[in-house]
Amino acid sequence: MSVKGSERMKNRRSTARANLQFPNPRLITHDSRLPFRVGFGNDVHRLVAGRKLILGGVRIPFDKGPQGHSDGDALAHALTDALLGAAALGDIGAHFPDSSPRWRNASSLLFLRHARQLLQKSGFTIVNVDATISLEHPKLAPHIPRMRKKVAAALGIKTAQVSVKAKTGEGLDAVGRGEAIRADVVALIVATS
Ligand SMILES: [Zn+2]
Repeated sequence: MSVKGSERMKNRRSTARANLQFPNPRLITHDSRLPFRVGFGNDVHRLVAGRKLILGGVRIPFDKGPQGHSDGDALAHALTDALLGAAALGDIGAHFPDSSPRWRNASSLLFLRHARQLLQKSGFTIVNVDATISLEHPKLAPHIPRMRKKVAAALGIKTAQVSVKAKTGEGLDAVGRGEAIRADVVALIVATS
């Protein structure tokens, strides 16, 4: 091998090592020739008296709401984590620390809009998101169309790309006892640039 060739090999090896430590998620996607990536997010909040119940930016009449630093919107939080996770961009705590007064009682739709911008900057587009909210009371079905609309608007996608489902905890665990709300979300994104 020529001197130049071995230099090149050395460079390639050190680049490969650097990529192992800090992989660019887009490059991995392109290498596999399948430009899709999936992400998962989950969020739980304790329900307490005197807090507003907000889900996907929609205010839902109820006598209890989630304890939390921001508005406690479990759906928006789990969504943000799913989207960041799909692009391997960390998690909601890293981008919006609890310690910052900036996010006190902030609308969590802000987090969604920020996640959307981060994805855009990284060359990704959202394909779809699918969420399940677990809550014993009240019934969420009448509010789901508005949640889908608000989430879609914050993410800059169509309502048809946002699925929101609701279920109870069947009287079991913290959700079932009416002490907690939980949201689980999967998101699919695609590299477009
Ligand atoms: Zn949360």
